[in-house]
Amino acid sequence: MSPSASTSPSTTATSATSSGTTMLKTVALTKDFRGFTAVNSVDLDVAEGTIHALVGPNGAGKTTLFNLLTGFLSPTSGQILLRGQDIAGKQPEQIAHLGVARSFQITSLFEQMTLLEHLELALASPTGLGYRFWSSRKQLNRFKARGMELLDEVGLADRSGVHAGSLAYGQKRALEISLALANDPALLLLDEPTAGMGMEDVDRTIALVKKASEGRTVVFVDHNMHVVGSLADEVTVLQSGEVLAQGTYDDVRNDERVITAYLGDAGGDHG
Ligand code: ADP
Ligand code: MG
Repeated sequence: MSPSASTSPSTTATSATSSGTTMLKTVALTKDFRGFTAVNSVDLDVAEGTIHALVGPNGAGKTTLFNLLTGFLSPTSGQILLRGQDIAGKQPEQIAHLGVARSFQITSLFEQMTLLEHLELALASPTGLGYRFWSSRKQLNRFKARGMELLDEVGLADRSGVHAGSLAYGQKRALEISLALANDPALLLLDEPTAGMGMEDVDRTIALVKKASEGRTVVFVDHNMHVVGSLADEVTVLQSGEVLAQGTYDDVRNDERVITAYLGDAGGDHG
């Protein structure tokens, strides 16, 4: 291989905040469910070190896209490039090992387990999901210190010994973010981290995501435009599985197609 043949000095005119390196790129990414196309030829380009928002009405394909990116679903066609490596069709464990972690739209905690136990198990398991219930207490003890650090980062250190079931809703969501951070992912995917929250928790979560984004790339889904405007360097709007618009928050919210799509939704009720 010739080392000189690999690079071309092209400049990207996308994001001023990024190093210019692409962390995540999808090419014509498509997922069909028995003839229904939930994700339709999506091209996504997420620069390393940026925060990218994915917005769009319910059913737009946002969660399905996350499931494709993390290997929970296999694409029907298209590519998923993580730092240039095609990860389409890889298993969730393999993708987690490559530095991708996610949180879930629906709370997925074990009510009877303590916060620290959640962190210990997440640290012991690369996906944060394949909880190893057979891990002995002794094996898990080595994750205690790191688990406490992670709880501290999300403001839950003083609750480390309580059962997850006893947490307030906002605290549960914060715990889920700390679980996603357990394996120090390069790419963090958050599916509706502020869903169902009151304003105070929303603002706390914004600060939390900002902190969590230091030194990593974040893609998040949210319906709250205050959250999107506060966090996102770039926004992709999905509708019916397709990219409707892409750009900065200001670009996107002034985009006529986006305005029409959202007003179309709001105006659909002939009451
Ligand atoms: P969003 O997260 O944007 O609200 P989803 O990705 O959850 O949207 O869903 C997109 C569409 O794909 C919806 O119409 C949903 O019903 C459909 N869908 C999602 N998962 C499946 C599945 N496993 N089988 C069939 N249809 C699905
Ligand atoms: Mg969803």
